[in-house]
Amino acid sequence: MTDFNRYLLQEGKHDSKKKLALIFILVSMFFCFAYTIVFMLLGAIVPAVIQLVTGGLFVLAYFLLKSEWEVSAKVLAIVSSFLVTSIQSILFFGNAYGFQFMIIGHIVVVVMIFNYNRKYANSLLIAYLLLSMSTFIYIENLEFGIYENLVSTNLEKWFYNTAAGGTIIALIIIMYFFSKEIDQAKEDLFVMTLTDELTNLYNRRIFMEYGNKLFESNLEAQFTLLLIDIDHFKVINDTYGHKSGDEALKQLSSIFKEQMRMYDLVARYGGEEFAIILPRTDRKSGEQIANRILRAVANKPIRIGVDQEIHITVSIGMSDRSIPHKDFSSMISKADEALYHAKNQGRNQVVLHPKTEFA
Ligand code: GH3
Ligand code: MG
Ligand code: MG
Repeated sequence: MTDFNRYLLQEGKHDSKKKLALIFILVSMFFCFAYTIVFMLLGAIVPAVIQLVTGGLFVLAYFLLKSEWEVSAKVLAIVSSFLVTSIQSILFFGNAYGFQFMIIGHIVVVVMIFNYNRKYANSLLIAYLLLSMSTFIYIENLEFGIYENLVSTNLEKWFYNTAAGGTIIALIIIMYFFSKEIDQAKEDLFVMTLTDELTNLYNRRIFMEYGNKLFESNLEAQFTLLLIDIDHFKVINDTYGHKSGDEALKQLSSIFKEQMRMYDLVARYGGEEFAIILPRTDRKSGEQIANRILRAVANKPIRIGVDQEIHITVSIGMSDRSIPHKDFSSMISKADEALYHAKNQGRNQVVLHPKTEFA
């Protein structure tokens, strides 16, 4: 992956790793302060202070993350959570409170929040997994710590089950979150391959695929193709600026879409050229629809800037299946010829490709 691609990925709206790191930091912060209070109430002052200090480290991690020190924030959060669970278990509580399960939970977070396209990242990850797993097994086999009789056996069980169960629930939530993110990213990528970014219309590739398919299928023997070109669009760009030109393209696209039926396909064919495929439409209906589009465009003002409105016209070339074509591309050529005539004859009009060649 190039640096530029990485930049796009990280700056994109799917910065799931950062989002997850944020959630991890906030949840850990909450637990640190909650345990601080619980331990204080139980009279376990040293563990309470350790929780308090770690809570402070999570606050620091939070601000690091906010100020774009992302890797430092993640490392600080992970190291803090590893240390607090290990220290509390090894020095004070043994395996009785189930803190070791939080180590399992945080390993999963580690796997998910870092980028592994850096040198040594994978080796570091493996080393860290081994360290965490051995720590988990070590703690799980500890008999008891100095706070063994801090609470009743029942309450101790309750602590243990809460830590184990809470970890499992957290893992399920994390997996669900990532699964949704992957689906969304897949969907966004898919839409990007189908559409044009400025107008949200289908792109030329989809137009060609659909046209070729219709052309080859006998079921759709009747279908009509419109090529639309904006009249004197260069003047609009020159007068109002390229940005206003873009805005006009967007609004025109909406007008086209409003005029279409569900199964028609509107595509941006090129810069200020559009193509419409009208399935199950013969020459006569095609001509009616083309004229309807022409009138809709001419009648609807296009907003430029805050309070300026202009009127735009288009020229439309049409070809259909009532004349023989070699393939879909030659159908496009015929529509293009018709468009050329529409321009030559004064624009703002529909020209059908004649059943014989143009005179
Ligand atoms: P005609 O009536 O003969 O079609 O005149 P025209 O000015 O529309 O034709 P021409 O093909 O000379 O100019 C098309 C212009 O469309 C030139 C180009 O800068 C502009 N254009 C193409 N794509 C875009 C775009 O995405 N945004 C903007 N703002 N302008 C575009
Ligand atoms: Mg043009
Ligand atoms: Mg034009």
